[in-house]
Amino acid sequence: MSIQLPISEKRGIVNYCSSPDVNTKRIFLVLSLLVSTLVLIKTCSEQYYRNKWLYGHGTSRALLIDSVCPSFDYYRPSTYEVHKDTVIAKIIKDESFRKQSAAKLSGAVQVQTEVYDDAPQVDEDPEYWAKFEKFHSYLEKTFPIAHQILNKTTVNTYGLVYEWPGSDDSLKPLMLTAHQDVVPVQQETIDEWTYPPFEGHYDGKYLWGRGVSDCKNLLIGLLEAAEELIKVGFEPKRTIIFSFGFDEEVGGLRNKNANLLLKKYGVNSVYAVVDEGGISLTELEGTQMALPGTGEKGSVNAIIELTTPGGHSSIPPDHTSIGIMSALISEIENTPFEPFFTDANPTFMQYTCMAEHSTSIKKDLKKDILNAGNDKAANKRVCDFIDQTKALRYYIKSSQAIDIIKGGVKSNALPEHVEIIVNHRVAIEQRVDDILAKDIENIKKIAKFFKLGVYYQYKESKEIEIIPSTSFGFFKLIVDDVLEPAPITPIHDHHWEIFAGNIRHVYEEIAEPNFFKNNPIIVSPGIATGNTDTRLYWNLTNHIYRYRPGVTPTVLTNAHTINEHIDFNSHLQIIAFYFEYIQSVDETNDLD
Ligand SMILES: [Zn+2]
Repeated sequence: MSIQLPISEKRGIVNYCSSPDVNTKRIFLVLSLLVSTLVLIKTCSEQYYRNKWLYGHGTSRALLIDSVCPSFDYYRPSTYEVHKDTVIAKIIKDESFRKQSAAKLSGAVQVQTEVYDDAPQVDEDPEYWAKFEKFHSYLEKTFPIAHQILNKTTVNTYGLVYEWPGSDDSLKPLMLTAHQDVVPVQQETIDEWTYPPFEGHYDGKYLWGRGVSDCKNLLIGLLEAAEELIKVGFEPKRTIIFSFGFDEEVGGLRNKNANLLLKKYGVNSVYAVVDEGGISLTELEGTQMALPGTGEKGSVNAIIELTTPGGHSSIPPDHTSIGIMSALISEIENTPFEPFFTDANPTFMQYTCMAEHSTSIKKDLKKDILNAGNDKAANKRVCDFIDQTKALRYYIKSSQAIDIIKGGVKSNALPEHVEIIVNHRVAIEQRVDDILAKDIENIKKIAKFFKLGVYYQYKESKEIEIIPSTSFGFFKLIVDDVLEPAPITPIHDHHWEIFAGNIRHVYEEIAEPNFFKNNPIIVSPGIATGNTDTRLYWNLTNHIYRYRPGVTPTVLTNAHTINEHIDFNSHLQIIAFYFEYIQSVDETNDLD
């Protein structure tokens, strides 16, 4: 394969967010004379648009007519009536179950499984990873019933795959995942923790410690749910797989669980994967929304090096390599990526759902959101609205963060080499090539101004010359850690109906019936701006849900920082959700 420079492509996506060019403006001017025609076209296309969602993507019983947002009613397993006053009530309300459950999660926190960015490969330094052996022993000791029934396999020594064999081979297995590792606690911050980070302190309401929300809560919750199911005699028709990686926080590349599963079950062999992520619950414009991630942005690191002649700092050039690199940094930051608001991105549906169901949203905004698929001006206004909020902005556009800079070694010597690393997250509508094409344009502009050469290298491949090196030096762009945006999980199907319906049922009927009686939850697709282990599972299924259940919003748990904690009610809801979801999926005979 020949090596090519990245080219930014349109790929059939119409971006209404960017300002129209002069020609487009002229066309609009002419069109504006035909107002009546436009109104007619608009009405028709709106109807087409709605019909497309209603009929073009399969049929779902619970879709509301004249609604674009796929809002489903509760979904619960047929056994709910049998278990609601016994197992479910015990999980949610029983004080001794709560204490036992807290002890299990606390014990998991006490086995320190921190991984650092410079973590070695498993065979390079077995000592480094030995802590995971302790974690495995802890799981065996704490969940004896699950270990009796489930078949455990270790992959690349510390990856864990548990299989609970189903009785019907024709049904695809359901896969539920979490990771065993946690991000490190910085020594300098230990004094700022209310309780020591690896004590797993439980104060009756909250459980504190590194990993309690990211995501030992999910791992422990899954095994607790499995044991509750075993105790009531549940025997799956559909094989259930638990897959627990051990290096998610440092890239996940040592996790080979997917290789084992692909070999055993094949490509597209899994019913669905549920992993961490998403927004468990949030209030948007007065509407309670649960936002499982059905898409995930891509990412890429652009390493940009600048090499210039050295010399004594008493006779410097007008601009040293540090000065030139600063000019490039300014150029990069002054040319941010354009936003997109298209139905390729789950965020589009998230806003559509909000607009359809919110009772407090401003009328104009509601109208704009609901027309954004057809009306360019409305689309632009919605983009501007989302772009105003830092926390929301990057749902709809690619990002660039200059995270590392290195250069200069001595106060009296000119720096010969400067390097920056720009971390990009790639919007759903774009590809990594679009991002790199923009980086190259930025570099070329500065290189031309300072009469420098430009070179390009994609990962380990051969270097390409874009502009030959000069006596003033050259830039080199090295591309690393490439991940395209994830395939989008379909939502107009029975898989989503069960998943979304279970979430509503657990929150509204089991967890907080009084609160949600007048605040029904809209479960809408959303996107994850960060990445998880799900990237390893793309070949196993196109139904990937990134979701951590629990009515406490994920953002309030201090994941990755000091005082990480969870409201323990949320943990119990996790167990109840898995208890329901595993049974609900098991009751369907869906073959895809
Ligand atoms: Zn995590």
